[in-house]
Amino acid sequence: AGPRAPGPQAAPSRAPCKPAVFVPVDRTPQVQEARLKLPILAEEQVVMEAINENPVVIICGETGSGKTTQVPQFLYEAGYASSGGTIGITEPRRVAAVSVSQRVAKEMNLSHRVVSYQIRYEGNVTDETQIKFMTDGVLLKEIQKDFLLSKYNVIIIDEAHERSVYTDILIGLLSRIVPLRQKKGLPLKLIIMSATLRVEDFTDNARLFSVKPPVVQVDARQFPVTVHFNKKTPLDDYSGECFRKVCKIHRMLPAGGILVFLTGQVEVHSLCRRLRKAFPYQKKSTAGGEDDKEDSVEEIRKFKKSRKRRKVLTLPKIDLNNYSVVPVDEGDEDRDIDSDDDAATGSDLDLDLGDGDSGEDEKSDLSLPLYVLPLYSLLAPEKQAKVFRAPPPGTRLCVVATNVAETSLTIPGIKYVVDCGRAKRRFYDRITGVSSFRVTWISQASADQRAGRAGRTEPGHCYRLYSSAVFMDFEKFSAPEITRRPVEDLILQMKSLNIEKVINFPFPTPPPTEALAAAEELLIALGALKEPPMTGRLKQQLAAKLSCPISALGRVMATFPVAPRYAKMLALSRQHECLPYTITIVSAMTVRELFEELDRPAGSEEEAAQLKGRRARFLQMQKVWAGQGPMQKLGDLMVMLVNSVCADAGLYVDPKMKPPTEAQVTYLRQIVLAGLGDHVARRVQAEELLDDKWKNAYKTALLEDPVFIHPSSVLFKELPEFVVYQEIVETTKLYMKGVSAVEPEWIPALLPPYCHFGKPLEEPSPSYCPGTGRVRCHRPSVFYRVGWQLPAVEV
Ligand code: ADP
Ligand code: MG
Repeated sequence: AGPRAPGPQAAPSRAPCKPAVFVPVDRTPQVQEARLKLPILAEEQVVMEAINENPVVIICGETGSGKTTQVPQFLYEAGYASSGGTIGITEPRRVAAVSVSQRVAKEMNLSHRVVSYQIRYEGNVTDETQIKFMTDGVLLKEIQKDFLLSKYNVIIIDEAHERSVYTDILIGLLSRIVPLRQKKGLPLKLIIMSATLRVEDFTDNARLFSVKPPVVQVDARQFPVTVHFNKKTPLDDYSGECFRKVCKIHRMLPAGGILVFLTGQVEVHSLCRRLRKAFPYQKKSTAGGEDDKEDSVEEIRKFKKSRKRRKVLTLPKIDLNNYSVVPVDEGDEDRDIDSDDDAATGSDLDLDLGDGDSGEDEKSDLSLPLYVLPLYSLLAPEKQAKVFRAPPPGTRLCVVATNVAETSLTIPGIKYVVDCGRAKRRFYDRITGVSSFRVTWISQASADQRAGRAGRTEPGHCYRLYSSAVFMDFEKFSAPEITRRPVEDLILQMKSLNIEKVINFPFPTPPPTEALAAAEELLIALGALKEPPMTGRLKQQLAAKLSCPISALGRVMATFPVAPRYAKMLALSRQHECLPYTITIVSAMTVRELFEELDRPAGSEEEAAQLKGRRARFLQMQKVWAGQGPMQKLGDLMVMLVNSVCADAGLYVDPKMKPPTEAQVTYLRQIVLAGLGDHVARRVQAEELLDDKWKNAYKTALLEDPVFIHPSSVLFKELPEFVVYQEIVETTKLYMKGVSAVEPEWIPALLPPYCHFGKPLEEPSPSYCPGTGRVRCHRPSVFYRVGWQLPAVEV
């Protein structure tokens, strides 16, 4: 079919419905040859016709069929970036955005100035950028600044099957932006790419697209994969089972790469070490380092217990109405759920290969070294890139990966897949905010994706370390993330886009109404939304609550690329020159890499020493936010944090900042309290001890059960009466993490939305304040959920 005329609404100036120009690309013969093998190349015409003729197109195709790397090139060649507009591609994972942009630049023989990427804290985008890979969070921030996304001609939402929250939100927003651009005569193309066929949430959803978008199906040349189920399903030592299976494959089966799916970074490293030991290839030992002892926290100063008398708050305190706008360019949430830490697996070097359930009996080849590579989201890009290169001659490639290898990245030459059947997922308690990482069974769709990795280049085998009965019990598809997590940051972003009635938003899958209500409530309590007038009947009130407009503070908060609680801390921090310190604290609390980095097993002694130093500095920082002492030199860690967050905020902060003054430390603790208001806990007093399980326990406003200060906290032994915590994690007990001591006087002063205030005290209220000429009266408060009597405050 020949090219059709552009739609009648196309404006002549820019972004025609179908560009007329063909933009040649100068590829090397090798690249051209490799491309021709990709299934999507055979469908180029079908893909481009669908795109030319429809505002929204869905492309489905097996992982490795060439969607991510080739579709942007098709569009580029068809002239979609030739009229000054950009082709934008969003990825849910940073690792994919970076790696694919590099790959595409190389394939097209274009510089990174033209094919660029942008992720939360870095990027190489220039004025010349025509193809831009970015995380979905980055695009969301851009929509906030320019709702029509006028600099783009095409937006590709990649990996839509992952159903990350941002993907869902973007698709909802784009379903509105596309018709608006159409009306303006500057049509925007929306392409949704998915690895699975389950796209009904997008296609058969009248809230989303009034015209059902066409689905282009790319048939991958998939070679048959023989699936072998285990007879038994190992309940805990699946990592050991992976080890035995890899050993067996390597010893007995013909050449071909092995890909192992585990759940987290620590497991990946541990299996890599075992395999390298069993089949040495690298001379350099990579063992050791991980059992570095925790740095001791002995010299903790005694916590000042000034619990003598409750008196009216006279301490200097932060001003809740003093917040200021800090410009922020972009940002995205860190959602690398696959890479979170877990406990190291057992290390017994069990080489018993007795059970022969795979039924293979080919000749053994003991001479071949195994070339073992780890792969997970937070691995340095240079190390990630190794998996795409051919293994050294005479070795067999073995990649030990988290589920990042499931659909985001395709590793060449894989013939054997070993699938532990599990993945790590974050679970949230919607009411209390308690979050935990749990290893759970994957879905059937994921298991099939994993198996598919074995059949890219020739017939392959997939070893599932679980029985077929267990597989039949897997859910068919994982539930979209939006139905599983707290949505307050999204609600805030949406409100700042003036989407007030969040309940009417065209979500591909709407979150539960109670999650929306909980988010709205938290945002009201933080002061980010304007509270509705408390009138009308209950039902009307609820409806009103779900459509509260954003406040001035909320707008400031929405500019920060962090969750609302931390955004509030940052927004309050321009006073008393606290910002650099708050940035440090917030970074430490929210930048997951920091903890990853600190907990990572070291690869060498030198690295171990470096990590030890960093841990020590980190502990010092922890003390600051626990109110334990001045910040000392934080060295390179600090520089890194200051550079990232402050640079984003367009601020200059001297990395060699002075330690905060005593007063600043107090303000900082108040700022932390202001952001984590509902996370206050009070130590159970001796006279209240019900039984032994309440020893050293705290009572929170949200939970019935006793909670404890986590042993890693500098306050573990101090046990201050009131604390505020960042989160509760459930291991053997409920532990508070990110704990900071607070003075009871601060609570009514800084958290009025959470308090019930009593009548003014007789003495000395009301009284005349000679300094300001104002009448002051003092009111005591009750933290209403738990009935804590709190000291009086000035009003
Ligand atoms: P899809 O998006 O459909 O899963 P991709 O476009 O990601 O497919 O991959 C197409 C091919 O490009 C695969 O064979 C993959 O191995 C290769 N590829 C992708 N990224 C890289 C890279 N960074 N280096 C080398 N090859 C790569
Ligand atoms: Mg892809």
